[in-house]
Amino acid sequence: MNLAPAFTALALAATATAQFPVVTTVLNNGTTQTRYDMVILGDGYQASQQAQFNADVNTFLAALFQKQPYQTFAAYYNVHTVFRPSVDSGADRPDETPAVFKNTVYDATYNYGGTDRCLYIQNTSQALADAALAPATEGRVLVMVNDTRYGGCAATFAVSYNGAQMAEVQTHELGHSLGQLADEYDYPYQTYTGGEPSAANITTSPTGAKWAVWHGTDGISAFQGAGYYLQGLYRPKVNCLMRVLGTTLCRVCQENITKITNSIVDVIATTSPASTAVAVAVPTPQTFSFTHFVPAGNLPLISWKFDGVVVPGATGTSWTLDPTTTTLGAHTVTASVRDQSLLVRSDPSNVMTETHTWNVTVGNPNLAQLRVPSASSNLVFVQPGSTVTLTATVTNDGPGTAGPFAVEFFVGGGIWAPTHSYLGSVTVPTLAASQSTTINHTVQLPWSLPAVIQWVHVVADRVDAVDESNETDNARTVVLVGQTGGCVTKLEYTTPFVRSDQATLSLAAGGTLHPTVVAPCLDPATTLYLIAWTGSGTAPGLLLAPGVTLPLNFDALTQLGLDGLNGAVFGNFLGVLDAQGLGHATFTLPPSTALPVGPTHFAALLLGQSQLFTATTNPVALTLLP
Ligand SMILES: [Zn+2]
Repeated sequence: MNLAPAFTALALAATATAQFPVVTTVLNNGTTQTRYDMVILGDGYQASQQAQFNADVNTFLAALFQKQPYQTFAAYYNVHTVFRPSVDSGADRPDETPAVFKNTVYDATYNYGGTDRCLYIQNTSQALADAALAPATEGRVLVMVNDTRYGGCAATFAVSYNGAQMAEVQTHELGHSLGQLADEYDYPYQTYTGGEPSAANITTSPTGAKWAVWHGTDGISAFQGAGYYLQGLYRPKVNCLMRVLGTTLCRVCQENITKITNSIVDVIATTSPASTAVAVAVPTPQTFSFTHFVPAGNLPLISWKFDGVVVPGATGTSWTLDPTTTTLGAHTVTASVRDQSLLVRSDPSNVMTETHTWNVTVGNPNLAQLRVPSASSNLVFVQPGSTVTLTATVTNDGPGTAGPFAVEFFVGGGIWAPTHSYLGSVTVPTLAASQSTTINHTVQLPWSLPAVIQWVHVVADRVDAVDESNETDNARTVVLVGQTGGCVTKLEYTTPFVRSDQATLSLAAGGTLHPTVVAPCLDPATTLYLIAWTGSGTAPGLLLAPGVTLPLNFDALTQLGLDGLNGAVFGNFLGVLDAQGLGHATFTLPPSTALPVGPTHFAALLLGQSQLFTATTNPVALTLLP
């Protein structure tokens, strides 16, 4: 047996079917991402009738785009066809005598579901597979059936015969699938008793409140009989294409189709820059622009926002940002175009406005860029009052020159806070691009330092005196291990941004300090502290008892302090130690006092029960500035 001819026949058949289905974009207005894409299939067309299918599609499209709202928004649609030929021409007519059966790709039949004029396809899986070959599809796929007998039906597909009323039938079906509209005809049921329908064009309201904005326009009111019911449902107009063929769509139906089309279509066609992430470098201006295809007759209204705020006077398709007029960092630029079509009167979801947002980062390539690449301490294990030398390197990555700026030192918990003990600062007068400076800062740790892990924070330019391209990388930490100290009696400041042993206050501005007595080995139950003030130096001091000298000279400030003890200025200057052996006082200098400019000091004495003058502390300095 010679199989060769059979193989040859198979190969020919494979070649022939490989030409089908034919996928054609018959209306191409733009990318599938930006347009509403329709797909049309053909059933009952033989391979030789492809031209007829194409002609039927053209007849439908020509009619569709003569109707509103499709006419106004014709550029918003793409139409694709997928043509797969049938063996036979026409559709099944099982209800005729004799019954007619045709071999077609999607197996279209009249009398579908027992309704003679319901023409629908039975091989929906093949139709779905073919429709999926189109570049894109929104909504329901249309199927043209090559048969002269009037008929059509819609479910998953919108199916119509290709006779005289084909365009009317399919436009009506698009009203369902694209416009989510209900049928406005009033048969076969009698009285509607259900809830308010979701469709825009039928309502239970006898006044038609749903479309109140249209009342009085083009015959719009409320007419009983809609949605398959003679009573209880109302339609907007006496006649509409959703009710009878051969009429226009009413304004309510047109509005809904327009809004749904616009909710899918992206009318902003191109943007410049194309990327939504835009880096802008001071001082170069950056222009943003876009193109859109809102019909000119709809008076497109353009606006621009910078950081969400409307830019006055910016109404064109481009806008230029001057980065010297804004802050460095992240911003947004938003362009929007509003379609003011008279086909839409109610747009609560703003579907007639298209927006595009660029995320803009403004940087300045000419700024300095400080960082602290390293920091260390000569001691790791420290006690209260230990003297440590802290070493830090500060680098300016440039290209701008930095300075003057302060490098500040703090000690406290792992996350820096303003309440951390202030260890002073070193001023860097200038630091050129690509230069580093090493700072050695020797400082005494607070006497009240707890015996826990401590973090030293080195912070360069905390107050942002230097404009930098990155303001968030200016700190480094060093870990110290706090240990219990010996028996001491000390006085220090525990005030944010004030060193423990020296402070300044402006006489004009006034201010607050917190002198703190540190006496861990004295009995809080039997010990009082008293803090005294002097403006005349710490030597020779006041001899209180043999071997007990308070390191300050009695003068008018001392008398002022004693007179105002525990008042508004010298708060808690006489008090008891807490459980940790700390005595917390508050010195509040009112603004604009007549005190003399110059150095002053505080020192404390401890008062006991068995011995009146138990101990004295070191002095701490307070310099009064103008
Ligand atoms: Zn209508």
